Amino acid sequence: MYETGRAWVELNMEHLRHNVRLFQRLLPEGCVLMPAVKANAYGHGAVPVAEELQKLGICNYCVASAGEGATLRQAGIRGQILVLGYTHPRDFELLRACSLTQTVVNHDYGRELAAYGKELQVHVGIDTGMHRLGEPWDELSRIRRLWECRNLRITGVYSHLCTSDGSSEEDRAYVRLQEQRFQEVIRRLRGEGKVFSAHLQGSYGILNGERLSGEYEYARAGISLYGVLSSPSGRLQGSYDLRPVASLKARLACVREVDKGEKAGYGLSWQAGSRRRIAAVSIGYADGFPRALSNRGHALVRGLRVPVVGRVCMDQLLLDVTEAEGVQAGDEAVLIGKSRDQEIRAEDLAEEAGTISNEILSRLGDRLIRVAV
Ligand SMILES: *Cc1c(COP(=O)(O)O)cnc(C)c1O
Repeated sequence: MYETGRAWVELNMEHLRHNVRLFQRLLPEGCVLMPAVKANAYGHGAVPVAEELQKLGICNYCVASAGEGATLRQAGIRGQILVLGYTHPRDFELLRACSLTQTVVNHDYGRELAAYGKELQVHVGIDTGMHRLGEPWDELSRIRRLWECRNLRITGVYSHLCTSDGSSEEDRAYVRLQEQRFQEVIRRLRGEGKVFSAHLQGSYGILNGERLSGEYEYARAGISLYGVLSSPSGRLQGSYDLRPVASLKARLACVREVDKGEKAGYGLSWQAGSRRRIAAVSIGYADGFPRALSNRGHALVRGLRVPVVGRVCMDQLLLDVTEAEGVQAGDEAVLIGKSRDQEIRAEDLAEEAGTISNEILSRLGDRLIRVAV
């Protein structure tokens, strides 16, 4: 048995299916979607999301770690699972046991993978200017030597864009520069008869795709597949009908009246300017609702947008529900999502908290159950 009534994430699987179809139409022929389901599918729940994607015929996924890949395999997810991040040599066995595809984070790491002594499937990361993972694009002889490692079964080569969500001319120019470098590498490797799939774009690389000219076998969509952009402004060239998959909801535990001048919460950081009704809600920063939204955030109750008052606690927060008629204990508060004609989008909440929706969603905690609706 598990708790279902306190605080939860509702997953609108119809919206997920819609977003998948939208991307499939957007991508050119020959380019398949490789959804990023890392960080528990951006907080949505890696297993329910990957199961739904599998039903839709998706057969390539990317995750951040070998452990995340193993979780998907244990849940029966088939197809290719690419580990985008670093895996320590002590976990190479896990890569094999779960048939995961590992990123070669640079040439030296490729040697370590090869030294493991058993065949591993890999994609080679190329650093085209982000300077995070990948062998530098201009180290062609070192890149080429990876193909001489007998234990490495290289099936892909990829890079990652770091300014594709930007709208300035400088950002666009950097996208073009990264792509030119990447194209140069794959042209040279293919010219030598090497056969592999190439991929470059994440969400913004797809949605701002007219900036790219090359052809790619995979597109690694993350945040946008969940129907969300990183920030409200979005910085997109076009407009797309992305539909948010997750709603975040919690229950009102109790409602009380406080007199004018009364203070509330830790540190008594909020004071009632008049007689107010305040509600304690069963969700807090341990569930992923940012403490930074103390005395700043909002929630929806009975279709009304109401303010967070006082400091957000670990497991609870307070709302001023004076204006919401008929509010009572047991009512739902919507932290992300819709209530009647009102909506709080993850992008809006993230902006209020001074971050991006990726961080808000990926930090949604374990205590929240994920319910498909
Ligand atoms: C997280 C990640 C993605 C997905 O990025 P989104 O912007 O969420 O679409 C793609 N590629 C790499 C290498 C990543 O780390």
